[in-house]
Amino acid sequence: MDSKDDKDISRLCIHTITTKPWNIEEAASHFSAAGVKGISVWRDALDGRNIKQTGQLLLDHDLTIVSLCRGGFFAHKDLNKRKLAMDDNRKAIDEAAGLGAPMLVLVCGADPSQSLGDSRKQIQDAVNELIPHASAAKIKLAIEPLHPMYADTRSAINTMKQANDMAGEINSPWVGVAVDVYHVWWDPSLEKEIKRCGESGHLMAFHICDWKLPTTDMLLDRGLMGEGCIPVKQIRSWVEAAGFTGFNEVEIFSTSHWKDNQSEYLQKVIKAYKENS
Ligand code: ZN
Repeated sequence: MDSKDDKDISRLCIHTITTKPWNIEEAASHFSAAGVKGISVWRDALDGRNIKQTGQLLLDHDLTIVSLCRGGFFAHKDLNKRKLAMDDNRKAIDEAAGLGAPMLVLVCGADPSQSLGDSRKQIQDAVNELIPHASAAKIKLAIEPLHPMYADTRSAINTMKQANDMAGEINSPWVGVAVDVYHVWWDPSLEKEIKRCGESGHLMAFHICDWKLPTTDMLLDRGLMGEGCIPVKQIRSWVEAAGFTGFNEVEIFSTSHWKDNQSEYLQKVIKAYKENS
């Protein structure tokens, strides 16, 4: 591998969910051998493991742990479910700290038996309530706006403006925004809101993939960069113009790609990253 190749992927991070058929030990070894420098860990990848030792294993593979995915699902009409969600989020913060991840990504949740406004209020209250725990553990909380097709049950935060507004009202150095191109590429205010996010110091993470034509599953048919219609390079240029210097995180849920030979697929991810992001 020549030095240009090294440089090209020096800010590439891959989510464990992207290569879901691999366990975290296999992912660490394959990512590292391919020259990937960053890893974001999904909580299911930690099942049954000593979290501290797993974090050390990632560091031993020269991987930067970018984030833990995911916390959230705060919005419930039922108070008891809201309390359970808070317990789970405190646990997730502790897991992030044990792993050595600096950030927990939040899929904030929504409950279709109440209004989106009520869900949003519960989300904001919950994130506020988590700040003491997060700051004590030194874990940042990144609100990720989700595409409006998920406004029924996955997130009542659906645009960058909503995420920026909420992060602004919460006004804590521990709370910011994760930009995922899959969720926000369609938004006519995207460039403006990314700029605003950077200027306010809230731009904490950048997730990339593509929107396939046609998309055959609302959750599990994301594409590699270049397989669809998202202007990933353009959005990345806005994110970088807004001052973001962190990792570009490839996060692809795809039942189709999970059937690929994962070693070959990893090479495709790297190629797509170099050419189309
Ligand atoms: Zn994401």
